Amino acid sequence: MSTFSGPVFDMAKTQFEAIADYIDIPHHERPRILLPKRAITVTCPIHRDDGTVAVFEGYRVQHHLTFGPTKGGTRYAADVDLGEVTALAIWMSWKCALAGLPYGGAKGGIAVDPYSLSRRELEALSRRYMQEMIPFVGPHTDVPAPDMGTNEQVMAWFMDTYSMYQGATVPEVVTGKPVSVGGTVGRREATGRGVAHLVARAMEHLNINPRGATAIVQGYGNVGSVSALTLAEMGVKILGVSDHTACYFDPSGLDLGAIEQHVAKHGVLAGYSEAGLFDPKELLIQPCDILVPAAVERVIDAATAAKLRCRILAEGANGPTTPDADLVLAQRQDEIFVLPDILCNSGGVIVSYFEWVQDIQRLFWEENEVKERANQILDRAFHQVLDRVKRDRVTNRTAAMAIGVEKVRDGKRKRGLFP
Ligand code: NAD
Repeated sequence: MSTFSGPVFDMAKTQFEAIADYIDIPHHERPRILLPKRAITVTCPIHRDDGTVAVFEGYRVQHHLTFGPTKGGTRYAADVDLGEVTALAIWMSWKCALAGLPYGGAKGGIAVDPYSLSRRELEALSRRYMQEMIPFVGPHTDVPAPDMGTNEQVMAWFMDTYSMYQGATVPEVVTGKPVSVGGTVGRREATGRGVAHLVARAMEHLNINPRGATAIVQGYGNVGSVSALTLAEMGVKILGVSDHTACYFDPSGLDLGAIEQHVAKHGVLAGYSEAGLFDPKELLIQPCDILVPAAVERVIDAATAAKLRCRILAEGANGPTTPDADLVLAQRQDEIFVLPDILCNSGGVIVSYFEWVQDIQRLFWEENEVKERANQILDRAFHQVLDRVKRDRVTNRTAAMAIGVEKVRDGKRKRGLFP
């Protein structure tokens, strides 16, 4: 039995096998491209505030080292396991390759509900996890970043812990740090801004006017909130938002400013208002122009895919749509335009790349430069995907993944096998 298993890993494998069939990768070559280079499991003991000791399991998976260090976020969630982290690392590889970044994919995680920890406990756990990872990460080996359940503060603790052991400040060991300790301007907003930028490109392509268009966003964290705010700045009306604590829907449009104020104060949507509370299971299937899943994976299965009533599905989250759902979407007559995750949310890793470059050079850019360069890379990837779709009559996801897989395969073949 393989160490790499579970529903999310199986999903990444199924997607890969379909791409490998499409681009004719011989079966004997496939494990070398799919399976990760390294998978690290650690246990992290911490003192709880009540005086007891708790132990949490942590993971880091490094998918391939063909183009340079591996790169990927760190997820704190109760149900994180090695299979999920591996799938996320694999998707990061295709994403970095599609964007043309000199990285392989990685991902890390700790099986913990971050909302159940005090700030002191969160700091202790983050520092212990990074300390356990020191032999395996580094600016030219593997560069962690934030993901679900982690943020700029957690990255600052990671950077500080690593630096203390090196005896010098090493900002380039993680990205997504606060700007004051070597982060780049525009990183916190980068993923959501990238989602909105690509939605704008998709709207141009489909002749939809953003003014008067409508959107629903699932997940009101880093990616979801910035996607919603940036779409609203473009004139899009936000009809629905949700997080793990509450769901709001109003067909005439929500007051995003008031929601932002509430979340800034309380951290979550719960308690925002009694009016507009909605069943989260029904949110994704309400009519809208743009649907942005920006929370967890596998929220759109075949049954939900058949009921979607959006025109653009912009995947802010990683892996929100199952392979079965993809088949349903491909057969629908009304053609929903899918911005697949490895394209749609790649603004985050693109600006993380800029942060790493700036940290190594100790030369920092203005926000406009960050935005313009990120948009250039997003536009290049978007057009490469559309050209491939036109050429081969495949879905947007198949085109995006095929471009990523082909680049990784080509790199491995050119470098050859050592020894
Ligand atoms: P986050 O922790 O900032 O926010 C996650 C949000 O999802 C929270 O609002 C949480 O309450 C909500 N949520 C969790 N479970 C939910 C559920 N079942 N239904 C509705 N909402 C739920 O995380 P994030 O960084 O915004 O990441 C969100 C997604 O975007 C993840 O899939 C992540 O892998 C992906 N992503 C993040 C980045 C990044 O730069 N942060 C980059 C690329 C992709």
